[in-house]
Amino acid sequence: MTDQAPTIPSPSSVYLHDASIHILSSTLTSLTPFSSIPELDQALFKSPPADSYILTTDRTIFYPQGGGQPADTGTIRDPERSSFVVSLVRSSVTKPTRILHLGTFPLATPSFQPSSPLIQEIDAAKRALHSRWHTAGHILALAAHQILPSAGLIDGKASHVPGSANVEFKGTIPSEYKSAIEARANELGTKDTAVYIHWWNVETMREKCQGGCEGLEDMLAGNRADGDTSGLLRAVEIEGVGSYPCGGTHLPRTSDVGRIEIRKIARKSGICRVSYAVF
Ligand SMILES: [Zn+2]
Repeated sequence: MTDQAPTIPSPSSVYLHDASIHILSSTLTSLTPFSSIPELDQALFKSPPADSYILTTDRTIFYPQGGGQPADTGTIRDPERSSFVVSLVRSSVTKPTRILHLGTFPLATPSFQPSSPLIQEIDAAKRALHSRWHTAGHILALAAHQILPSAGLIDGKASHVPGSANVEFKGTIPSEYKSAIEARANELGTKDTAVYIHWWNVETMREKCQGGCEGLEDMLAGNRADGDTSGLLRAVEIEGVGSYPCGGTHLPRTSDVGRIEIRKIARKSGICRVSYAVF
């Protein structure tokens, strides 16, 4: 036993711990013209607007694009000075724990001072939309496993981008199961089941998660290299249904997701792609 408090992984990435916070006070740590950040980080942003800056803070509620989920947008402002409009957020590749907020100052020249207290506010409606589509993707994948428990489906990539979302599996989902999987997904959705975020070690991840556990050791090694020695990884659980390793934002309950519709099941080179929409 130790008296030391347990390490919380990535405490500065507030969205990982509480996705319900939409406004947050933070402190400016850097404000850099876009053209002055490392080229490897510049490559994360396609065609940034002229006069763009990269802003970093001590902590953030802005979700950076990743895991199939689009980034948050919003504002970061000093009430007495100017407002920074955030159009895209990415995790730095040169320092992965650093969250880069890309944006512009539409109404004034940049006037934030070093260590300025800044109010962050994300577009809450957009966050809710992204969370709905992301949670729906996990529900749909779990429904596919429930309907075809003996098919040996292995979870693959996923995109939760509204309008072009899909979940992929290694294995075959015959088209005739489309309506049964869709019905099961909606059954799970309307049951008003809780959606939990957990921090688990690798053993628990493998024990509890339906899939997606390939590469967990690499993920841990990366975290250690970035100074996170907790040995914990993040997972999402649809209570009583199943869990996946996941870094995204979710709705607190499945009944908020809405109706899930399977658009198409496509097969190519042993991969089954289930495209879906949420209404
Ligand atoms: Zn996820």
